[in-house]
Amino acid sequence: MVKMMTSLDLMVDLYAKCERQGPGSKVVTQRALSLLDLDLKNSLNICDIGCGTGAQTLVLAEKTKGKITAVDLFPAFLEELEKRAAASAYADRIKTLEASMEDLPFREESFDLIWSEGAVYNMGFEKGVTAWGKLLKAGGYLAVSEISWLSKDRPNELEGFWKEAYPEIGTVSEKISILENAGYVPLAHFILPTACWTKNYYEPLEARFDAFLERHDYSDEARSLVDSEREEIRLYHKYRDFYSYGFYLAKKRTNPSSYATHPH
Ligand code: SAH
Repeated sequence: MVKMMTSLDLMVDLYAKCERQGPGSKVVTQRALSLLDLDLKNSLNICDIGCGTGAQTLVLAEKTKGKITAVDLFPAFLEELEKRAAASAYADRIKTLEASMEDLPFREESFDLIWSEGAVYNMGFEKGVTAWGKLLKAGGYLAVSEISWLSKDRPNELEGFWKEAYPEIGTVSEKISILENAGYVPLAHFILPTACWTKNYYEPLEARFDAFLERHDYSDEARSLVDSEREEIRLYHKYRDFYSYGFYLAKKRTNPSSYATHPH
C-alpha cells in the first residue's frame, strides 16, 4: 500500500516499475466487472481513480467498449500507464489525467462507471464514495476496493498498526452501510484472495528493495520506506486471516423524489 507520510519521490521510484501498486489481479477486476449488470456492448464513460500504472485500467479497456479516464496524482505512474496503453490495442480509449481524487475536474453525472482499486483510502472511504457519487449518472455504478476487517475482533498488534496507518479501516458490514448512507444500492462484495497480496503485490515489491536501497545510497529515508513496507508485509503474513481488501460493487440510487412527480 502506498503511504503518503514518506518522501513521495522515493515512493514513486519504488513503485513506478511495479505491475501494480496495491493488492489485486486481472481475475479480480474481471470478477468485479461481471457483478455489475452493465451492458458492455455500449460505449460507457468510465473513470478509474487512483489508477497507478494501470493494471486494472487495461483490463477494463479489454473487457468493455468504454472510454476510460485514468486519474492519478503522480505523473510518473501515468507515464507508465501511457506506455502500456500504447503497447495495447486500446490506446484510443484510454486517456490519462493528472489530478487529485479529492478535487476532480468533472461535471456532475458524467460517468456510467467509477472504478477505484486500492486507492480510496487516500481520501477516506466515506468521503470518497460520497464525493464520487455526484460524478455518477443516476443508476451508474461504483466499483471500489478497500481494506477491510474480516472479523469483529482482532489482535491488538494488528489493530494498532492499522489504526495508525488508516483509522477508517472497518468491517465489511460497516463499509456496506457507508455505501447505503451515501446514496448507493450495494449490489455485491467479495474478498480478495491471498495471492492478490503476496504473489501479485508484495513479492514483486520485495524483489525491488535491494536495488532501490542501492540506488539511493542506503539513505535514512530510503531505508525507512523499505522498513515500513517490510513491517506491513510481516504483519500481513502473521495476521492475514483478519483482514484483506474487500471489493464493493454498488449502484447509484435514482432520486426517489422523481417518483413524487408521477400524476395520480
Ligand atoms: N489502482 C492501482 C494503484 C493503487 S495504489 C492498483 O491497484 O495497482 C493507490 C494509487 O492512488 C497510487 O497510484 C497513488 O499515486 C494514487 N493516489 C494517492 N493519492 C492520490 C490522490 N490524492 N489523488 C489521486 N490519486 C492518488
